[in-house]
This record gives sequence, C-alpha cells and structure tokens, in this order.
Amino acid sequence: MIPTDTEGIDQAVATGALPGWERVEELVLEAHRRHSGEASGEVADYIPILGAADPALFGLAVVDATGGVHDAGDALHPFSIQSISKMFVYALAIQEHGHETVRDIVGVNNTGLSFNSVMALELNGGHPMNPMVNAGAIATTALMPGADPDAKWESIRDGLSAFAGRELPFDDDVYHSEIQTNERNRALGRLLGSYGRLTGDSDEIVDVYTRQCSLNVPAHDLAVMGATLADGGVNPVTGRRVVSADVCRDTLAVVAASGLYERSGEWLFEIGLPAKSGVSGGIVAVAPGKGAAGAFSPPLDSAGNSVRAQLAIGHLSRSLGLNLFASAPMTRAEE
Ligand code: GLN
Repeated sequence: MIPTDTEGIDQAVATGALPGWERVEELVLEAHRRHSGEASGEVADYIPILGAADPALFGLAVVDATGGVHDAGDALHPFSIQSISKMFVYALAIQEHGHETVRDIVGVNNTGLSFNSVMALELNGGHPMNPMVNAGAIATTALMPGADPDAKWESIRDGLSAFAGRELPFDDDVYHSEIQTNERNRALGRLLGSYGRLTGDSDEIVDVYTRQCSLNVPAHDLAVMGATLADGGVNPVTGRRVVSADVCRDTLAVVAASGLYERSGEWLFEIGLPAKSGVSGGIVAVAPGKGAAGAFSPPLDSAGNSVRAQLAIGHLSRSLGLNLFASAPMTRAEE
C-alpha cells in the first residue's frame, strides 16, 4: 500500500480551461471528419445482439465543464453503455462507502489481463484488484445501496441517470441477449462468492450488473457523464451535484490505470487521459477541470476498444491540449 497522510491538508487543484466554444466545435468536427474513413476493427458478437450493430456508426461529443456542448456525426445514436457503466457505478460506491473501504474490498490496481479474466481472480487469491474489469465491477455492484437486487438496480439507474442529466432508458433486448449467454460472468460471480468476496446471491448480483450494462446512452450522454467527473462531481448541464470532488479524483485515478483493460498503459502513454471503454464501441475520456469527450463506433481492436473512438479522442487530446502529462517550458525573461 502507498503510505499516505492527508490529515488537515486540503485538496488543491491544478487545471486549466478549454479553448473558446468555436475552436472546440471546429476541432470536434475535424476529429470526426478525419477518422470517419477508418475501416479497421471488428464488431463484438460474444453478446449476440451486439453483432448486429452497424459498423459505419460513428458519433463524437464534447461537453465542457461550463456545460458547453459539441456533437458530431452519430452523437445522438443510443447504444448499450456496457463496461463504461463500471466507472460510474464505482464512483457511486465510493460516494456510499468511502475511499478506504472500496479500495480495500475491490482494489485499485490493473490486473494486466483481459476484462473477463478468471485467471486474474485466481492469481490474486480471489481479490478482484480492479473495479474496471468484470470481476471487480461485479464486486462493486454488490456494494451499491439497496437491501435487495431490485433496490440496488434502482440506485444504479438513478445514479447513472443523474450523471447523464436525464432518465437513462433500459434496453431489454440487450439485457436478454446477454443474460442468456453470460456463463462466464456468472462463473466470476461464483468464484468471488467462493472466496467470500461477495455478499448476497452471486447470480442476483450478476443479474444487476448485466442490467447496468444494458442502459442505453448516446456519445452525447457519455460526454455529459464524463464532464460531471471533470467538474468536481457537479453535472455541468443540470447544475446538480452527483458525487463529491474527492470521489471524482479517486474514480479518475482508477480509470487512468485500468480503463482500457490491458491496453491502459499504452493508452496513457499515447493519449494521457483517464478513459473507459465498453464492448459496444463507446469510450469516455475525462480532462479534469476542463470537460469530457464521448465517442462511439462499434468496430473494436483486439482488446475490445473502439478503433474510431480511440482515434477521435486521441485527436482531441492533442489538439485541445488535454494530455495530463504534456507541458511546455515556462517563458523566462532573456538573460
Ligand atoms: N456486459 C459486458 C460483459 O460483462 C461488458 C464488457 C465490456 O464492455 N467490456 O461482458
């Protein structure tokens, strides 16, 4: 564990602002145009219904921390949120239980293995380690407030809707398609239960997890949800507080380490932003204090990350100056 002492030290922040609205609009349209011809990647089909997605769909959206909105292409086309739900449910779980409890129960480190890995659990004595892959996300869903699965589902749906600033619709077809084919997630749930890492019935928790993955969002909503985490926990469009600023910081740290599965290190190296992807083709990337980008296009790379979404967000990270690790020398007076 990293030694920490935060007693009596207020969290100061170091962030800038995005360029003016017109410049951001221009760059969002440019990023969309430039990458819409990209043809690589495969649409996921291990959840049968996802295989029917139109590979040509491509939406991009940016929402800044003042609530300014930019949409390009299919930015309003809805798709199931899938794994991207993990980061927002994780934020809600920290809000409920606090930094230490969630850190100790779920963990904050990258497993270095694929998102549905059983090995990752076995190699770590049943400790999920990482809330951004399936085992850790199922353990996180179990922590959500609610005395029974329906109550937990309600707190998840309400919480994710508050991030989006509107009631998120549930996609019954996606849910049924996944629930009939999710033996692997049920196996992960039972394995967690066998190690005493899950309280309650594991199949019921996996069912709630599958429902959270079946909420529909367009890229536009992802950008609003991400911008809420960029804005210290206040939704910049509705003005409503969803989680605390400390919860945003904790969530984004974990997302930076693990949001693109086993490619997270490469992503941070190339793009320099906390981002979370999902198997239906969405990615949300968050620039703390500035805003967020949401992108959607179904064809995925071999790790399960949307190819066009990665390209478009990479373009914006560079052109909008979002990379957290980039700096330029300060101007000094001539000697
Ligand atoms: N619902 C999907 C699953 O559990 C989510 C995975 C993902 O988006 N990577 O398999």
